[in-house]
Amino acid sequence: MNTLNDLTLSLKNTDKMPVLFLGHGSPMNAIQENEFIQGFRNIAKEIVTPKAIIVISAHWETSGTEVTAMEFPSTIHDFGGFPKELYEIQYPAPGMPQLAEEVKNITISSEITLNEKWGLDHGAWTVIRPMYPKADIPVIQLSLDYHKNPQQHYDLAKELYQLRYKGVLIVGSGNMVHNLGKVDWRKLDENFGFDWALETNDRMKQFISDGNHQSLLNYSKLGKAFELSIPTPEHYLPLLYSLALQDKNDKVEFFNDAPVGGSLTMTSVQIGN
Ligand code: ZN
Repeated sequence: MNTLNDLTLSLKNTDKMPVLFLGHGSPMNAIQENEFIQGFRNIAKEIVTPKAIIVISAHWETSGTEVTAMEFPSTIHDFGGFPKELYEIQYPAPGMPQLAEEVKNITISSEITLNEKWGLDHGAWTVIRPMYPKADIPVIQLSLDYHKNPQQHYDLAKELYQLRYKGVLIVGSGNMVHNLGKVDWRKLDENFGFDWALETNDRMKQFISDGNHQSLLNYSKLGKAFELSIPTPEHYLPLLYSLALQDKNDKVEFFNDAPVGGSLTMTSVQIGN
């Protein structure tokens, strides 16, 4: 069977979908009622309900790029030392093997591997669940290839652009500022940010507003505050996936724009509407 035709049958052309970058922060958000969860709920109400969702999560790094292709992804509790309640959460959204195939087919620059073993990690379900609590929209994940540099991630993401016209919501899930080693755990429930975290958050927002993706791709040259804010790239790279899918006419809006625990920001971005 021709998978492109399959997809055309199941996913008709639509108006252009927005793209999101969602700051996910602590898994505890999943069992807390807070401003960030409310922010995820609000955004879901504001945008058109998607036919399917692709999440690029900070928590799935692989050698080579993979896409989940199972019918029923399991809920992965990929964290330690949290309350039992958090491990009991299930998010039984279906997968969409057809869409996984399509992602593989339209990506020319990289060989994408279909994955039957992963599922939905907490980078995906802790943000998608508040948006779509009925778990009735198919969700697939695209992994972060740890061999790729920022430009290669950005270029790969661009190849997914046409899916914005198929009712697919593409979501990068990470954190713009994310330094776990420097978290002030006593202040995790406060909107507290160290000076360097606030500085980076502001500068990132400025670059995003200016459409200056080049500076964001060269983040390692942006000085001390950026170094402290991005000690490892996995929570930052999903932002580059989302930005790569922006076109000239897409406005950007920020929400959940707040620091937590000193060294994390929850700042989220809506691209297009
Ligand atoms: Zn995370």
